[in-house]
Amino acid sequence: MNTSTKNHDLISDVGRLYVVATPIGNLGDISIRAIETLRTVDLIACEDTRHTKKLCNHLDIATPLISYFREKEQSKSELLLAQLLQGKNIALVSDAGTPGISDPGAVLVRKARHAGIEIIAVAGPSALAAALSIAGLEHTTFFFGGFPPANKNERKQWLRQLALLPCPLIFYEAPHRIAASLQDMADLLGDREAQLFRELTKIHEECLEDTLIGLLKRVASGVKGELVLIVQGAELALPKPNNLEELLLWYRDEIKATLKDAVGNIARDLDLPRSQVYKQALQIWKDTP
Ligand code: SAM
Repeated sequence: MNTSTKNHDLISDVGRLYVVATPIGNLGDISIRAIETLRTVDLIACEDTRHTKKLCNHLDIATPLISYFREKEQSKSELLLAQLLQGKNIALVSDAGTPGISDPGAVLVRKARHAGIEIIAVAGPSALAAALSIAGLEHTTFFFGGFPPANKNERKQWLRQLALLPCPLIFYEAPHRIAASLQDMADLLGDREAQLFRELTKIHEECLEDTLIGLLKRVASGVKGELVLIVQGAELALPKPNNLEELLLWYRDEIKATLKDAVGNIARDLDLPRSQVYKQALQIWKDTP
C-alpha cells in the first residue's frame, strides 16, 4: 500500500494525519485500509468518542480516542497539531462518512498542511457520493449545498442565489427541517422534480421521487432518519447573454425575475452601477409584452 506523497519538503520525524472515512450506516462499508489505519495510529480524533468507541469495539480496535468536534475545532486542532509534531500518527474520523464534508476536519487539515505534516485521505463512504451514485443523473456537474441555512430568511436568500444554476442541487437536511426546506425550495426554485434519499446503506433505505410539492405532501406526517435531497437544476431554454439589454430581456422572459432581482444580479454580474441598470430595466419592463 503506497501512502507516501510527492512533497519532499515534508518533515520526516513528525507524525502523519490520516483522514479516514467511516460507514454512513452499514458497518460492512468500512474499508480494509480504514481498519488498518485506525488500528495502527497512535490516536483517533473523533466527533463523539462514545460513537466511535462503538465502531472500534465492533472492529476490535483499542486505539485511544480523543474528541474533536465543531465547537472546539480551533483549540482541539492546536492540541492535535502538537501531538503530530511530536511524532504521533493521528486518524481523524467523524461520526459517519467522510470528515470535512459537512463535518469537522478542515481546521486541523489546514493547520497540519501549513506545518508540513503529511495528510493522507483514507477514502470511503459519504452520503453525498452514495446518493449521487444511485440518482441516475446524466449531468456531469452538480452543486452540493451541504445543509441549507436553518434560519428561514437566510435560507430563502441563499436559495435565491441557487435558482439559476442549471445543474442538479444536492443538499443534506435534518428530518425536522425537511418540510420547511421543501416548501421554501418550491416557492423560490419552482415545483421542480426531486429525489429524497433516506437511510442510505441501512435496512430502511429508500428513495422518494416526486416534485418538491409532491415530496412535501409525502413527508407532511413526519419523516425519520437521515436524508439527502437532490433537486433538478434550472431549465434554461436560452443561454445567458452577456450584454446589458439582452440580459434584461433574458431575466424578464426566461427567468421571470422581478425587476429588482434582475437589476441586482446584472449590476453585480456586469459590474455596472445599479442606477444605470435600473434606468434601462424600467424601459424594458415598461415594454413587457
Ligand atoms: N460527512 C458525512 C458524509 O460524508 O456523508 C456527512 C455528515 S453530515 C453532519 C450528516 C448528514 O449527512 C445527515 O444529516 C444526512 O443529511 C446525511 N447522511 C448521513 N448519513 C446518511 C444516510 N445513511 N442516508 C442519508 N443521508 C445521510
